[in-house]
Amino acid sequence: ASTSATEESNAHLFTEHDEFPVKVADDYQRYHQERTAFHYFYKTKGTPYMPLPPDESKPGFTVIDSALAGAGWDLCDRLNGMSSNTGYDVGLYNWDNPTYPQQYPFESKELAANVIKRAARTFGANLVGITRQDDRWDYASFYDAIKNETKTWDDFPFKPKTVIVMAIESDYEGQSTAPSATNDGIIGEGYARMSYVAYGMASFLRNLGYKAVASGNDLGMSVPYAMAAGIGEASRMGLLVTYNMGPRIRLMKVYTDLEFVEYDKPKTFGVRDFCERCKRCSDACPSKAISVADKPSLYPPADHDAATNAVGIEKWWTDSKKCLQYWNDSGTNCGTCVTACPYNKPDFWQHRMIEKMNSLMPGPLHTFMREMDIWFGFGDTFDEKAVAKFWDPAGRKYDGRG
Ligand code: SF4
Ligand code: SF4
Repeated sequence: ASTSATEESNAHLFTEHDEFPVKVADDYQRYHQERTAFHYFYKTKGTPYMPLPPDESKPGFTVIDSALAGAGWDLCDRLNGMSSNTGYDVGLYNWDNPTYPQQYPFESKELAANVIKRAARTFGANLVGITRQDDRWDYASFYDAIKNETKTWDDFPFKPKTVIVMAIESDYEGQSTAPSATNDGIIGEGYARMSYVAYGMASFLRNLGYKAVASGNDLGMSVPYAMAAGIGEASRMGLLVTYNMGPRIRLMKVYTDLEFVEYDKPKTFGVRDFCERCKRCSDACPSKAISVADKPSLYPPADHDAATNAVGIEKWWTDSKKCLQYWNDSGTNCGTCVTACPYNKPDFWQHRMIEKMNSLMPGPLHTFMREMDIWFGFGDTFDEKAVAKFWDPAGRKYDGRG
């Protein structure tokens, strides 16, 4: 599934799985898009969050930072309306596109997979995997908060057979400034790029005569689809962790009626074991939205508000309502958990130690490496030097006013 040269050369470090790599309960129920925290905030507060006005005395929130955030989200809104997180069938994610009337007969399914992955990279995907459509990960219903409209798969223009899952990298220096307007610019631009990459891929398939619709956070849950497609592992913070970029990615999908005989397999590389002892994200989270439990569980603990969670998948529990409340309070999209995660580093030196020593003493080693990551200066709270460095590698003052 991977398209990265580093991953290919480290193929021996991955464990391939025939089945979905985490437990799913027999009574697992499909998730409704309306249950996301974004929709909860739309309904109760009228908006998921509001950015703060620029303030020249606050690094990361000056006019320059706010201009970056505004431009990133403007780009996204121009491409997709205001519905990137709260709708479906809008902008580049629209359902109704012409498909070439004759299907291209691929010589082999293997060739088809290679062609699709090459096309995905052409449009900007860093990682791509191909998996079967799975009812469990698709929303049972779609909800658009702006239009106040619900639809189901009966309204979708075709029956998808396959989901192509892609990941794009987010800027490391920008991510290091979280939570800030600077990082919000990176996030907005990332959301815009998600739709651009997914639309390009869907258009390519339609030109070959296959039905295809681009999907961002709509249609289905991207994390389990990405796990099934072999491009990363679920983590304590709930986000996908990839081998090279950790959680510093954005995910998108293309639903298509092109069917394959063989699909990519889930692959793991030790994230879950590391998460058991690391807890950097839950320690750093300003709203305490990430579980501190040692082990993941199939069902949430009794004191956890699971209103926004898909229940019945083994995981650590996160409270998205608490998370978005912090977004509201800080006027940012936060992202502190992503910055804190050791896997976020461009060259995560712990990879190599984990790979060499995992079998020798996994528990103590993981705890030791977590501490080393902190000693080596990878902090997990807002750092104004990171903002100055983002705008100027020498870290000079960046407001242009002396
Ligand atoms: Fe916590 Fe911020 Fe991550 Fe939300 S984005 S879970 S508030 S660290
Ligand atoms: Fe796992 Fe640590 Fe990353 Fe949290 S910060 S997701 S515990 S590796």
